[in-house]
Amino acid sequence: MKSIALPLAVLVVILLTWAVFAGPPGESGALAEAGPSAPSSPRMAPLPGLGETDQPRTSAPSGGAGGRPPQELSRAQALNDQAATALSEGRSAEAVLLLESAHGLAPDDLVLTKNLAFAHYRVAEGLVAAHDMEAAGAAFRRAWALDGSQSAYGLHGASLSLRAFSLDAALAQLDEVLASHPESGSGQLMRGDVLNLLDRLDEALVAYDLAALHGDATVAAAAATGRSRSERQLAVERDYVSEETEYFVVRHPPASDHLQLVGVLERARVEVCHALGDFPSHKALVVLYPPDAFRAVTGTHDWVGGLFDRKIRLPIADLATSAAQVESAFRHEFTHLMVSEWNPRCPTFVNEGLAQVMEYGRGQGLDRLVSYLDSRGLTRESLPALDELPDSFMSMADREAVSLGYLLSFAFVDHVVGHHGMGALVRWIVALEHAPLGAAYHGATGRTLEHEEELFRELVRTAR
Ligand SMILES: [Zn+2]
Repeated sequence: MKSIALPLAVLVVILLTWAVFAGPPGESGALAEAGPSAPSSPRMAPLPGLGETDQPRTSAPSGGAGGRPPQELSRAQALNDQAATALSEGRSAEAVLLLESAHGLAPDDLVLTKNLAFAHYRVAEGLVAAHDMEAAGAAFRRAWALDGSQSAYGLHGASLSLRAFSLDAALAQLDEVLASHPESGSGQLMRGDVLNLLDRLDEALVAYDLAALHGDATVAAAAATGRSRSERQLAVERDYVSEETEYFVVRHPPASDHLQLVGVLERARVEVCHALGDFPSHKALVVLYPPDAFRAVTGTHDWVGGLFDRKIRLPIADLATSAAQVESAFRHEFTHLMVSEWNPRCPTFVNEGLAQVMEYGRGQGLDRLVSYLDSRGLTRESLPALDELPDSFMSMADREAVSLGYLLSFAFVDHVVGHHGMGALVRWIVALEHAPLGAAYHGATGRTLEHEEELFRELVRTAR
């Protein structure tokens, strides 16, 4: 633990299999051509569960409304056609209204029902992009209730619940989807993750095995990672106890005095929430380990002082002497938790930069970076460009490169917060879920990222 006290304490973030549900935009046919068979999302890739059932190839109402007057059916057909136009022009909410009317006229028509579900799905996508997650979750649930043949509708809803740490809701939704789609590898994977977070580790192992069995290569790789993590946790945490406090569910070894730290952590939580202007409504999951157990569970190097993988995992050495250290590590990891809710795909340098601003305080970044460069005889011109930093600092083999990556991230994000305020930084992170780095930056601060990076480098060059 000694190394954690060094000025270059390095803490890592690992965002787990959310990535599986957050791919690049997919393609989907307009309603008029493909009906609901190919949902896609600007945020989420089509899930492997799609296409497992036969889908109608036309959006024309199938006329299954026995006994309905012909004029009602032709009215439903006309509304459906208008809805197809509205959807193809991006007016999803209008399409929902039109299809709800059509559905009212021909409630037994299977194709209309599927089209209505698809329109709700499209609305949900728009709500996700607008970060109205509660309404998006409701729209996904409506789509799933209308058309249970599309596992993706239910899985997207479950992934939103997971993102908001509504674990029981996520599990209930997954159980429902998997009851009719047990072959959905990504559904089984998500269920493994939820069970892991709920500390139902034996069941998580079974779910991961099913994910590996049914999923594609990406899902299988994520399932293998989840399985080995759960096995390590099982070996270490089998007799751990969980206790709920006002803001946390804290897991720790039995008969340990770790709970004495809760007051320290709660104060740190409030400070971080105030600084970031956001207050999560769910309880954060925190696991406190003796240092050896922390290494065994996380498989991290000895310079890692904490980990966020949807749980905040912290090594605790000597309680009497390490409270300040634990508090700063907690501030760092709790910031990762906040960022994961704003944008699970936040670029590493922004995420790690902000975590360090909250860990060490504002206005420290430039000094730390310059001292590091000077003390190692490195030229101030030698800094890598921000967009050259790797996706994961964990993947960097060279300890010096890792340190420089963290310090550069800290200094730049600290610079942005200093010049534009914390609100602008948070807007940037949120916008980054759906926009490229530069466009999101310009939207959040009114300045181009190139210009900002130039100003920042000039400050690094001239700092004394
Ligand atoms: Zn970190």
